[in-house]
Amino acid sequence: MPDSNADKLVLELVACDRCKNPFMMQKGEKLRKQENNEEIVCENCLKLEQRKKKLVSSVVESQKEIKTSIKEYESQLELEKLQEKKKIYYDKIKQQSEILTKSVELLKKIEETNNEKYIEEYKKLFEKMKRESS
Ligand SMILES: [Zn+2]
Repeated sequence: MPDSNADKLVLELVACDRCKNPFMMQKGEKLRKQENNEEIVCENCLKLEQRKKKLVSSVVESQKEIKTSIKEYESQLELEKLQEKKKIYYDKIKQQSEILTKSVELLKKIEETNNEKYIEEYKKLFEKMKRESS
């Protein structure tokens, strides 16, 4: 006679909805998730999602800082009378805007990737971007 406790620990092989890799899940869990329209996601994909979220929020934070500094340069530019100094502010605004554009591209890449190794690369790109903007 099968023990009812042991029965609960039976695992089954299921495919991850995202990466399609097979992984072990408690028997019956798949059916339960399907009935609730929940995604069946493996541990690796969940970890990847967490890392992506973290990176995205850091990028968004820095975008806010860049936008603030652009605004500051713009108001300084408005007050400035000297042509030479105006040029400095124009250059700063241009440089910050370019970094902002890069960061938007980076966000898009992070969202689209499903590969762990790219997250590391994007992290490095982001660090570089932050250094350029400061
Ligand atoms: Zn997966």
